Amino acid sequence: MFMYSGRIVASKMHFAGLLQQIRDSSDMSTTNCGVFDVSKVRSDFPALDQRVHGHPLVYLDNAATSQKPYSVIKALRHFYEADCANIDRGVHELSERATTAYEASRIKAKRFLNAQLHEEIVFVRGATEGINLVAASWGRKNLKEGDEVVITTLEHHSNVVPWQILCEETGAVLRWIPIDDRGELILEEYEKLLGPRTKVLAVAHASNTLGTINPIRQITEMAHQAGAVVLVDGTQGAPHMRVDVQALDADFYVFSGHKVLGPTGIGVLYGKSGLLESMPPYQSGGGMIRTVSLEKTTYSEPPSRFEAGTPNIAGAIGLGAALDYIAQVGMDEIGAYEQELLVRGTAALSTVPGLRIIGAARNKVPVLTFVMDGIDAHDIGAMLDLMGIAVRTGHHCAQPVMTRFNLTATARASLAFYNTMAEIDALAAGLQKISKTFQ
Ligand SMILES: *Cc1c(COP(=O)(O)O)cnc(C)c1O
Repeated sequence: MFMYSGRIVASKMHFAGLLQQIRDSSDMSTTNCGVFDVSKVRSDFPALDQRVHGHPLVYLDNAATSQKPYSVIKALRHFYEADCANIDRGVHELSERATTAYEASRIKAKRFLNAQLHEEIVFVRGATEGINLVAASWGRKNLKEGDEVVITTLEHHSNVVPWQILCEETGAVLRWIPIDDRGELILEEYEKLLGPRTKVLAVAHASNTLGTINPIRQITEMAHQAGAVVLVDGTQGAPHMRVDVQALDADFYVFSGHKVLGPTGIGVLYGKSGLLESMPPYQSGGGMIRTVSLEKTTYSEPPSRFEAGTPNIAGAIGLGAALDYIAQVGMDEIGAYEQELLVRGTAALSTVPGLRIIGAARNKVPVLTFVMDGIDAHDIGAMLDLMGIAVRTGHHCAQPVMTRFNLTATARASLAFYNTMAEIDALAAGLQKISKTFQ
């Protein structure tokens, strides 16, 4: 049990803070259920239980979006059925309930990322909006001609284009950390890029295409030594591993709700409080001001400064339910099981004649990207679909990765903790069949 000692708590406020700490720490210690039961998990996801083209659905497109458990669907439904009202300025009961649930989700997101303060959690539309917010608000304020923005070759376009646009606007220069043949960042080259001009490092926690998990703590420390601010695109990190923004020392961390079992149209931007406080609004309107007069408007404090207009209230509440679900299954259990799936998948696909896996990083999220001799990636995807197997094909919004490996498209099977060993085997069997037909 949690224990604390020391002087008698003086103020109510302090006491409330302690209670919060107790809740936080007990949450951490009681969420591990120990045994991972995939069939039990699957029964929580209604969409998994269906047939596609006459075959049981094998859903392996989780890096694009995840399926949703009943608890998330129920939270959305409950909001619209019983608590639907606008938040904040309402005095009536429903508005009170909506506000409480919305703010409770902010606390859940704070715990999920181990942020220090709930004010450091900004609800946005998704990772894309979170990155755009930082580039537009922090970036325009702080970047000038000749400054440098460092990104990597394995970024999703969402973590490339906003920085390209910012560089065009400000005259700053974009620098790229290259990757090696395994798909890992070349840290010696990164070190050479860092200098007094470096103002930002924007880097994926994990690659959506290659699966590479980047050494965020190390590269963040290097960027900080150069005086740069670090944004981590956690869209592929948050679904697969425990995230601790304080331990990573990330200045900004973004992720999308819909890739962590939550609804679409909601995501989180974490920012260190000092940074958020220094930033001008991203959008303007209702909900983000303190006072408006004819002459001047003063802005509210973060996070509401960055949540102009009516936010996605239901989405935030649904995301809260998703984070609860993950905590209940246990992120460590999820990660360990997914690694077993990845090992099985890597071995099984390696036996398919003519198939080449792209990306062999030593630390990977469960993503298997591949090409096959003589067969277009899109055709592989279409043939697997006829077998009920859902994978994604194309450039995966990461064209610099494609260029690095001299490819235009790949097929990608991306796994989640509700996938089974049997599904991995079905994928491998399907690919064996396709290989036989075409080789
Ligand atoms: C999906 C993804 C994004 C974009 O997320 P949205 O939800 O589309 O905003 C950004 N980065 C990575 C690594 C992704 O996988």
